[in-house]
Amino acid sequence: MTRIGVLALQGDVEEHIYALMKASKTSNLNVEVVEVKKPSQLDSIDGLVIPGGESTTIRYLASYIGLTPKLKAKIEEGIPTLATCAGLVILAKKARDAVLKEPEQSLLGVLNVEVLRNAFGRQKDSFETKLLVEGFGEVKAVFIRAPIVTEVWNPAKPISKLNHPKLGEVIVAVKQENIIGLAFHPELTTTAFHEWLINEAIK
Ligand code: GLN
Repeated sequence: MTRIGVLALQGDVEEHIYALMKASKTSNLNVEVVEVKKPSQLDSIDGLVIPGGESTTIRYLASYIGLTPKLKAKIEEGIPTLATCAGLVILAKKARDAVLKEPEQSLLGVLNVEVLRNAFGRQKDSFETKLLVEGFGEVKAVFIRAPIVTEVWNPAKPISKLNHPKLGEVIVAVKQENIIGLAFHPELTTTAFHEWLINEAIK
């Protein structure tokens, strides 16, 4: 039995759980989904989802319950990880905020990217679009107060770019060894990335 943990402190946890169940059915793979709310729940998992939500809240709660060091170690040890939207912000080595203009503290710092939080603006600037993602083909992507990737360095690589009317060409998806980081919300439109995670976790 393969176990996938979903960091379940805040954000769209349910949507990821549903997407994982759907992905396990379509790929005919046996998966148990674990909601990760405390450090010990990280011990038995083979794959990890860091969901979207509010990165400052998730970060605060993770450090409040003492989850941060183990979470960081687990990802650095190589556990397959899918991080979406706020999840991408949490994994980034560097982050800035486009709306608040405040400097950000270092987060988990495991992914070689700089992100700009809320890069498209506020909630009313959220949108949907079709996107070409290397290794996944064309996907429908939902951007909700999304970040963009403003800098990426080895071994992280961009796997998708978006041409935005205001911002021009921006990086919205990256891969670094065991990690895929997406600025959008795949759990709302496709199971492709959850299938990737399950397949990596089974290896
Ligand atoms: N704007 C949020 C943040 O920076 C992310 C939004 C999301 O996950 N949909 O934390």
